[in-house]
Amino acid sequence: MELWYTEKQTDNFGITAKITETLITEKTDFQDLAIIDTVEFGRMLVLDGMVMTTVKDEFVYHEMVAHPALFTHPNPKHVLIVGGGDGGVVREVLKHKSVEKAVLVDIDGKVIEYSKKFLPSIAGELDNPRVEVIVNDGYMHIHDHKNSYDVIMVDSTEPVGPAVELFTKGFYQGIYDALKEDGIFVAQTDNPWFKADLIQSVNRDVREIFPIVRVYCANIPTYPSGLWTFTMGSKQADPLAVDETAIPELDTKYYSPRLHKAAFVLPKFVEELCK
Ligand code: SAM
Repeated sequence: MELWYTEKQTDNFGITAKITETLITEKTDFQDLAIIDTVEFGRMLVLDGMVMTTVKDEFVYHEMVAHPALFTHPNPKHVLIVGGGDGGVVREVLKHKSVEKAVLVDIDGKVIEYSKKFLPSIAGELDNPRVEVIVNDGYMHIHDHKNSYDVIMVDSTEPVGPAVELFTKGFYQGIYDALKEDGIFVAQTDNPWFKADLIQSVNRDVREIFPIVRVYCANIPTYPSGLWTFTMGSKQADPLAVDETAIPELDTKYYSPRLHKAAFVLPKFVEELCK
């Protein structure tokens, strides 16, 4: 008998993956958690029925959350990741030797625990001495840490459950206040096919707070529609003003110095959402 995992990405459309094993399913204090082995994309973390990350395509998202902002900031030392309990963004942040401390704040300790146990290739750096892992609401953390961080990355679930507040103007204002004077923030801001309204509202809110706002895209096959956006707000440095010839080649598989600016070239229907 074949077993398939299906994610309904809208009420009328979804993706489905043949699975070989269910490693764990648990209702945590915050969400339904599952880790499954799929034939096409390998091991997969699922939260509240939504694909969070897979061993096969995780590098795209985690590299594209981390490197554009870290190569735009002149000297990133203190980095905050809100969410990101699977550890993939932390792994990419630590590739930047200037980073002295990466603080990860995820509301659900079970995501961290099970990612370490079942997803070692993604979560392997969570115990790095340069990493501080805090189990807390990211919304609370940023309001308690003003003027503290060079770069803040929001690697949260979609705006459901505990992540709803992470897509509000009040949260972005809190991020602005938690950043130092030349700080940069980046958030995953979903897809333009099914969540155009979200991209528009986030862009509008962030533009009212940050002087420089840029949106970029990446292709993530296991995320809804496959076309994913990221919104960057910066107090001083512009990612499009970076000299990409000065960006070093890192051990990456998606991000590159050549892709740094190209990622900000948007399809016209996405540009329309960011005006
Ligand atoms: N890459 C995924 C995506 O784009 O949907 C996100 C992966 S990461 C596992 C998402 C994390 O956000 C989860 O571990 C979840 O517990 C965390 N999260 C949700 N709401 C949060 C909040 N208010 N504060 C901190 N972490 C939160």
